[in-house]
Amino acid sequence: MGSCKEHEEEQAKCVWVQGPIIVGAGPSGLAVAASLSKHVIPSVILEKSDCIASLWQQKTYDRLKLHLPKQFCELPHMGFPEDFPKYPTKHQFVSYMESYASHFKIKPRFNQTVQSAEFDSASGFWRVRTQDSEYISRWLIVATGENAEPVIPEIFGIEKFHGRIAHTSAYKSGSDFRNQRVLVVGCGNSGMEVSLDLCRYNAVPHMVVRNTVHVLPREMLGFSTFGVAVALVKWLPLKLVDKILLLIANLTIGNTDRLGLRRPKTGPIELKNATGKTPVLDVGALSQIKSGKIKVMKGVKEITRNGSRFMDGQEKEFDSIILATGYKSNVPTWLKGCDFFSKEGMPKTPFPNGWKGENGLYTVGFSRRGLLGTASDAVKIAKDVADQWRTNTKECRNSWNSHIILLKQS
Ligand SMILES: Cc1cc2nc3c(=O)[nH]c(=O)nc-3n(C[C@H](O)[C@H](O)[C@H](O)COP(=O)(O)OP(=O)(O)OC[C@H]3O[C@@H](n4cnc5c(N)ncnc54)[C@H](O)[C@@H]3O)c2cc1C
Repeated sequence: MGSCKEHEEEQAKCVWVQGPIIVGAGPSGLAVAASLSKHVIPSVILEKSDCIASLWQQKTYDRLKLHLPKQFCELPHMGFPEDFPKYPTKHQFVSYMESYASHFKIKPRFNQTVQSAEFDSASGFWRVRTQDSEYISRWLIVATGENAEPVIPEIFGIEKFHGRIAHTSAYKSGSDFRNQRVLVVGCGNSGMEVSLDLCRYNAVPHMVVRNTVHVLPREMLGFSTFGVAVALVKWLPLKLVDKILLLIANLTIGNTDRLGLRRPKTGPIELKNATGKTPVLDVGALSQIKSGKIKVMKGVKEITRNGSRFMDGQEKEFDSIILATGYKSNVPTWLKGCDFFSKEGMPKTPFPNGWKGENGLYTVGFSRRGLLGTASDAVKIAKDVADQWRTNTKECRNSWNSHIILLKQS
């Protein structure tokens, strides 16, 4: 299934899709297509790039490993191969997704950028336009991800800088920055890991830490910190869980405030739930900060031709700037006439109910809970669509001819 050609009627550039249209062939799009196939429901995935999981294949650095242990990153209905390590590399993760797509016979339509999608209340169908065609279906599943576009901040004077400026989505390896002085703007997981990677190539990273940040060890007492948190929140109040995590973190990695990494007042899990801000899971950057190989800098005041002036008055020269400034959703640029999403492109309805909108609209992978959230959204969506599937299909088939005339006229 996946491309479900046998279920569609193509007239000129208008494509009738019997099952749902899924926008995005990342882990979320694949997970929901596979879950639908379990109910024998066809779907069509429209993907703007030329491969599955383009974020992982094209926009991540070579050394990336899953941040969370593999049991929290599995897609539904097919686990990781048993011989995968606890934290699979990105290459292993991509190979897993390729096997997943082939196992469920998922064949996305590549190079199809969804430019607009709108519910047509007269016909009761979603009309989804790409550069080539218009796709029409009862159901629209948004799977374009929380990380669809890089966030490029406005930094005073940046246009004057003579060296290279790159977002982490274009960063592959520190080998491109060997022996350079590099300004890394941002101190989330990407900023920390890129700074660490740069150290391995004898570069001198200066990491800008403008705001507070929770850094936690990736493992606590031999268990993954994420796993410990997931287990504890089942039994204890959130604030108490945060206190326990911070106590163990202070015992194992010490007081990060002294390194210039001030902790927010709100605990890591409470903060994640309230704002989506993910704590940094340390994979080695902290020891490089302690040894002085990664320099922590306060906010940038101004970028100059040769470097940067900082808020604390220091001035330094740099060869390159890496923007580890995160990503944002792109849903508001293409989903029209629908107020289910905020202007930031996230569902307005809070977790756990943000997966379902009105008129056959669904979202997968927008719960700020990584791949664990993706898996649970995908299963819920497939069940919900399956509940409507049989009656709707019959009804759709019968009324298809009159709808297509209506849609063509409008
Ligand atoms: C460096 C990094 C490390 C991460 N590590 C982890 C981890 O260890 N564990 C974890 O759970 N999460 C991790 N994440 C979060 C990760 O983004 C998600 O878990 C996962 O990739 C989300 O999958 P997705 O399918 O929702 O979104 P994406 O992977 O972003 O896929 C969305 C797809 O939609 C396509 N698309 C976007 N717009 C359009 C359009 N208009 N038309 C057609 N197609 C479109 C994109 O090309 C893309 O292929 C990490 C993220 C990053 C950046």
